[in-house]
Amino acid sequence: MIIRHIKLCILGIFTLAPITSSAQDLIARQAPIDRKLRIADSVALQRLIERQNHFELQGESVYPEEWNNLFTRNYNVEIPDSFRIDLRGFCMPTPSRRITSNFGYRPAFRRQHEGLDIKVYIGDTIRAAFDGKVRIVKYDRGGYGKYILIRHPNGLETLYGHLSKQIVEEDQEVKAGDPIGLGGNTGRSFGSHLHFETRFLGKPLNPVLMFDFPNQDVTSDFYVFRKDTYREESRMASRNTNSQKNDTEENKPDAGNTFSGHFYKVKAGETLSSISDKLGLTVDQLCQTNRINKKSKIRPGQVLRY
Ligand SMILES: [Zn+2]
Repeated sequence: MIIRHIKLCILGIFTLAPITSSAQDLIARQAPIDRKLRIADSVALQRLIERQNHFELQGESVYPEEWNNLFTRNYNVEIPDSFRIDLRGFCMPTPSRRITSNFGYRPAFRRQHEGLDIKVYIGDTIRAAFDGKVRIVKYDRGGYGKYILIRHPNGLETLYGHLSKQIVEEDQEVKAGDPIGLGGNTGRSFGSHLHFETRFLGKPLNPVLMFDFPNQDVTSDFYVFRKDTYREESRMASRNTNSQKNDTEENKPDAGNTFSGHFYKVKAGETLSSISDKLGLTVDQLCQTNRINKKSKIRPGQVLRY
């Protein structure tokens, strides 16, 4: 009620602004600095209104009222056609700039990778991406390992997987940038890394739509979730990251030494071509990642990176 009242006041001032502006125009012509100040004022005012509107729309209200500590991807609530997610006030979960595996479908496992893998070492500090409340602190032996899920007032939930240590508790409130755990290699993980997910009402969104790890920044102040296109957007974003990733891999001679993505153990009778098919890659991609020649002989038991 109070918020609504404040908003009306702000709107009131804002509606009056044009009248004042035109009245001042004659004077302003002789005082360009004053005009600039006025423009700056209305921009600030506009931002204030925007923020106010946003405050009323966003947050816990999109989630069901009942709070739980269970991992639920499906909220059984109507997904809004669109929703603006405020990314201001973010903190990168890790200073690492290196994406080792993308969001998207993994043909070899016939399943979706619903997050982004970022290279971290065991013991590296992992931080909360936004202010929020810790909903889940659990251990999933065959999957996420030690993981944490936080709900944020901007409507997102973020998940941090494969940790070596969780240093927050369920229901604890956190600020963006608070240390929540340490990097690790727990659960279904080959090589230490952070598995980072961004979800809206349980729907997985490609984190690269919002977080630019190579540049340690968010992609924009806001990300607009759209029900009809979010899947396609997430898929396309991975495609873009893939090419970027390949570029940097090629330019980095030591990339092979720090690789921590996924490994494949060669079985008897397999060839580079049959393995590439299985992994949904081209032979060239597989060779490039492993810095081997297309004609290289591979032997059973050999471990390939992809
Ligand atoms: Zn992952």
